[in-house]
Amino acid sequence: MTHIPKSHPRYQSLMLRELISSGMKNGLVHETGLIAHGRGEAFDYLLGEDTPSIADEACKIAAAQLVLANDPVLSVNGNVAALVAQDCVKLGQVVPAKLEVNLFHRSAERMNLICDVLKNAGAASVYGIHGDARIAGLDHNRGICDKNGIYGSDVVLVPLEDGDRCAALKKMGKIVITIDLNPLSRTARTADITIVDNVVRALPRMVKYVQDMKQQDKETLKNMAMLWDNMDNLRKMLGVISDRLHTLF
Ligand code: ATP
Ligand code: MG
Repeated sequence: MTHIPKSHPRYQSLMLRELISSGMKNGLVHETGLIAHGRGEAFDYLLGEDTPSIADEACKIAAAQLVLANDPVLSVNGNVAALVAQDCVKLGQVVPAKLEVNLFHRSAERMNLICDVLKNAGAASVYGIHGDARIAGLDHNRGICDKNGIYGSDVVLVPLEDGDRCAALKKMGKIVITIDLNPLSRTARTADITIVDNVVRALPRMVKYVQDMKQQDKETLKNMAMLWDNMDNLRKMLGVISDRLHTLF
């Protein structure tokens, strides 16, 4: 890994690039994952690489839904494993929620590698390898899932997701939460709860909010979730970006 001094003005961003780059060299991240990361970076730049309070609101509602869920699952792909494997495991433990690996560019080797990364980060078990069920309407590999994992879940967190799987999961009646820096993506517009934030900032906050929400009574959480308007939150996020663009110079 290239040494990046902490004094570098773009230290955080460059460190993430290094994680994605070494993730690709190790076989965790598919080469197209680099492009997806680049799209994310561009939107993060527009946010000033910070979490606006509007995005934090979505994070709290997502935490409430995870606490209310009967059988929640966190879906993990190569980029997520390279950037936030430990946070995924922590979130899985505090909710508690299952972890399942789901890849567009699926190969036995990458599936096993990502499972190992999650297990090394402390996960007791990881779903996805079996692939004994299919999400209806998806002809590609992201449709493959585990019967006891995503297939049977009621709430599913799908960070850095594809719009068509997000829609297909919703069609199955699941509550879908995503983390996506692009408020315009199909995923962002299809999910029930969209956290427009970098996954590296959103996941640790979710861990904290889940711990807080577990102390609250279920009726309060249900009311919070019921009042959530995702499209309104996305509009506000676009407002945040547009205000920043107008006041930068
Ligand atoms: P869609 O199919 O939903 O329209 P897309 O095709 O534009 O999405 P994909 O390549 O499927 O995008 O997935 C990558 C998405 O993840 C992009 O929207 C990108 O902004 C987002 N993204 C990339 N890196 C991060 C990150 N670190 N944190 C949060 N979001 C990210
Ligand atoms: Mg896509």
